[in-house]
Amino acid sequence: MIGDLHTASVQVQHMYAGSVQGLRRIGELQYEAQETRRSTLYALTTNNSNLQVEYADQSRGADRLVTDGIERYLAEARIPSEIELGRRLQKDWAAYLKVRDEVLASILEGSTKEAVDLDLSGGVPSFEHVRQDLEEVKRLYDEQAAEQLTVVDTSSRKSVVRLVGVLCFMLLFASASVWAIQRSKMLSALKLAKMQMDFVASVSHELRTPLTVICASAQNIADGVVDEKEQLAKYGSVIRHHSRQLTDLVNQILLFASTHEGRNRYVLRPIQVSEIVSAVLMNTRELAEEAGFAVEEHVATGLPPVTGDFSAVCQCLQNLVVNAVKYGGTHPSIVIRAFPGQRESHQEDEVSISVEDHGIGIDAAELEQIFEPFYRSPVVTAAQIHGTGLGLPLARDIAEAMGGQITVVSKVGVGSRFTLHLPAAKIVRMESIGAQRVAQS
Ligand code: ADP
Repeated sequence: MIGDLHTASVQVQHMYAGSVQGLRRIGELQYEAQETRRSTLYALTTNNSNLQVEYADQSRGADRLVTDGIERYLAEARIPSEIELGRRLQKDWAAYLKVRDEVLASILEGSTKEAVDLDLSGGVPSFEHVRQDLEEVKRLYDEQAAEQLTVVDTSSRKSVVRLVGVLCFMLLFASASVWAIQRSKMLSALKLAKMQMDFVASVSHELRTPLTVICASAQNIADGVVDEKEQLAKYGSVIRHHSRQLTDLVNQILLFASTHEGRNRYVLRPIQVSEIVSAVLMNTRELAEEAGFAVEEHVATGLPPVTGDFSAVCQCLQNLVVNAVKYGGTHPSIVIRAFPGQRESHQEDEVSISVEDHGIGIDAAELEQIFEPFYRSPVVTAAQIHGTGLGLPLARDIAEAMGGQITVVSKVGVGSRFTLHLPAAKIVRMESIGAQRVAQS
């Protein structure tokens, strides 16, 4: 399009320089030729000898301009028809001037009659030739201008068509982009809304069950239905168990909200991996024992300490162990391993802590989704395994805040292995920045 516009502009300039200016110059030539002729006729029709001399001079002055103009036309002529016409004009003009000079000479000698005869026999026809030549030149310029105008017109039309095409394409492209963006926004909003609804449904269920048990137990005690010491102790432990469950649920939701919004302040320090594993095993022992799970522990010797916030890292690993119990299926064994590794992208040392179960496993298509807030596999909801869909997102947020990550390998019906990768603490670095570093996730 830019090329078209450039061509059109060049054509217009060419047209102006050639045809328009040429037409103007031919107009001037016609005027001067008429002036030459007019002065000669004035000289023929007056008896005043002074005026005759004056008109003769005027005629000669004007003819010089015409002669120069014809020479310039010839010098600028490019095409054969222009050159041929220029030469003819030059010849006809010279012929007329010859007759005109004879006429003027007769007038100045006083032979006016002879001059009139000469003009009628030779001057009139030869000037007519000049006039026709000039008309021909004009016509030639007109033709050239019309041709160039057609070229400019064609290229302008082409430009307009292309411009319209480009505009239509851009309009279509913009509309398609807006539509795609709106659609993807709408789809993700719908997905989020569905997940939130699932979350509300599952959380209300999770809340209602322990609340019902607590209320019923408290009611029995208040009504005096239970009065024996042994039974009271049993009811007390039921109430304590369900209250803890409720507290854990509320804590998890609050913790997820604060972690996800980056409101938690972590104290990063070097931690021994064995300390983390022991704390997590202690916190989950009761749960594992109740579910009849055996937990194996393999911590490699000589592991470097990791950098992290102790309670956050424990929380992260604990979520993985709780899931291994919940989704451990009919093979109640869990293995926790801690071993050294190297971070591929960073070329730095890391320590990996994996939690492996032999339970229901996860479909490959769901491996990314399980880390999205509120996501729960349809299999586990159908099996009525309780949960909120917040444990893994929370664990991942924590791992990333510690500069680490969580990876997962799983196969349906075989089991899953979740691995928490944490950067190894560098002694030099830790010394230089002090024993403690406060970071905001
Ligand atoms: P929740 O356990 O409360 O549903 P999570 O965020 O911890 O929420 O887990 C999300 C989903 O990932 C679970 O609902 C389950 O479908 C799947 N999942 C997590 N851990 C395991 C595991 N060890 N084995 C099989 N599925 C798992």
